[in-house]
Amino acid sequence: PDDQFLPDPTKKNLVILGTGWGAVSLLKKLDTENYNVIVISPRNYFLFTPLLPSCTTGTVEHRSIMEPIRSITRHKKAAVKFYEAEATKIDAERKVISIDDISDVKGASSKTDVPYDMLVVSVGAENATFGIPGVKEHSCFLKEIGDAQQIRKKIMDCVETATFKDQSPEEVERLLHMVVVGGGPTGVEFAGELQDFIDQDIKKWIPEIADKFKVTLIEALPNVLPMFSKQLIEYTESTFKEEKITIKTKTAVKKVTEKTVEAEATGPDGKKFTEVMPYGLLVWATGNAVRPVVKDLMSSIPAQKDSRRGLAVNEYLVVQGAKDIWATGDCAVAGYAPTAQVASQEGAFLARLFNTMAKSEAIENQIHELSSELNLKPGVDAAAVAREIEAHEKQLRRIKDIKPFHYTHQGSLAYIGSERAVADVSWMNGNFATGGGLTYLFWRSAYLSMCFSTRNRVLVVVDWLKSKAFGRDVSRE
Ligand code: FAD
Ligand code: NAD
Repeated sequence: PDDQFLPDPTKKNLVILGTGWGAVSLLKKLDTENYNVIVISPRNYFLFTPLLPSCTTGTVEHRSIMEPIRSITRHKKAAVKFYEAEATKIDAERKVISIDDISDVKGASSKTDVPYDMLVVSVGAENATFGIPGVKEHSCFLKEIGDAQQIRKKIMDCVETATFKDQSPEEVERLLHMVVVGGGPTGVEFAGELQDFIDQDIKKWIPEIADKFKVTLIEALPNVLPMFSKQLIEYTESTFKEEKITIKTKTAVKKVTEKTVEAEATGPDGKKFTEVMPYGLLVWATGNAVRPVVKDLMSSIPAQKDSRRGLAVNEYLVVQGAKDIWATGDCAVAGYAPTAQVASQEGAFLARLFNTMAKSEAIENQIHELSSELNLKPGVDAAAVAREIEAHEKQLRRIKDIKPFHYTHQGSLAYIGSERAVADVSWMNGNFATGGGLTYLFWRSAYLSMCFSTRNRVLVVVDWLKSKAFGRDVSRE
């Protein structure tokens, strides 16, 4: 009663947790007039993650890849309620979610419960640290806008401190050593963007430290980008060599302190040794871990006890062992990689599923009404009503025949610096592995076309042109 949002009692409450790839793709295609749709997320915008590495150096400005959730919901046919809050607990028994407004400004009510009839969990994942000491305290991650801003500031902080009066050569060397841990696409794309920034801008603006920069990429496995083909892995490694990025493979970080990274490396003779590397900036990109709210839900469902990487779902994305809960994206385990491509296809699938469920429910109600007409109303044309019922039943069978979720892989793309990209693309039933300048143009146009809105597309192009024409902005803020 204290809420302006009055759900329609004839409709089901459909609660969507998150405003990322899975949730927004669902919202875009959902016929919202069929449900009381409530979106809950601590972030009131969608973030186009593929261009997040470009924000760390200012090649793209962060607001260009954000789209306010209200600009999405206001175009929907029926009102969608948005609560900026974090879901802290999902009670699958009582069908209630506890939410907490974690923002700086809080009203008299900041913790409350939201009941649901149907729930979609699309909360993504958090950064994996594997409990390695010092990681949380000393490194930057690269998942959210705030992370990219923090990295951008820290790069310039290291540069300005390195040029401070009377700095010792060892300290200059440390401050200008930028270490990236994790050779997956996040780590590789960030290292490429960083080296571009150093080569194309910082060296020109502050030439006295030009030859002191060093970027090191550390990877525990024998090679970087394990999801790409062998040829593209080799191309990436040789491009990094040209760009003077040092790749240390078979090197697993075990400890992080304020100024050093300690790793266990394996030499060519197979012998293990410990390497200590002083750093100025440390970016940690070792993949995903399950969020606490998801872990908690999993622990309350016996059928989830063997699942480790997230909520195990069936081929209709229904959370195994739960009723009326679906999951998409990085928090769901459906047998696919945790990518935006997968999350957005899953979201679109759920929209089709829910639209169809609402349609078939409406037809079922019509059939029900017609049947009671047949039984209760004297003098109706029984044959005509029976024909109508049959037609409805036929329509219902057709609608209800929903095929399970099927993922179509469009390919993998990654930027590797110095205007080169790698792509493993499926095209006309074949697979193409390409790398180089043309692939870079393809990467740019593909990402541009995937941007959320025309507004985003225009802003990104303007950012690209701006940074090319005037150089990236090296102000520290
Ligand atoms: P997300 O997009 O992470 O969204 C999760 C949402 O849930 C967010 O809105 C978050 O605020 C919200 N949330 C978090 N906790 C809670 C809570 N407790 N309650 C309610 N809401 C919550 N994939 C590709 O396919 N191609 C790429 O080029 C690519 N590039 C990437 C680059 C980077 C730097 C990163 C980090 C990832 C990249 N990915 C890429 C992976 C891709 O971003 C993820 O797979 C995708 O974001 C997963 O979508 P999601 O909806 O599951 O989660
Ligand atoms: P990832 O899981 O793909 O890679 C993390 C890497 O870190 C692994 O190779 C792992 O061996 C390494 N690692 C783990 N612990 C380590 C340690 N202690 N020391 C050294 N190395 C260690 O993570 P990501 O790159 O963040 O990607 C996450 C997901 O997002 C993936 O599914 C990826 O495909 C997707 N993504 C895609 C793109 C793209 O398509 N361009 C870009 C970014 C992310």
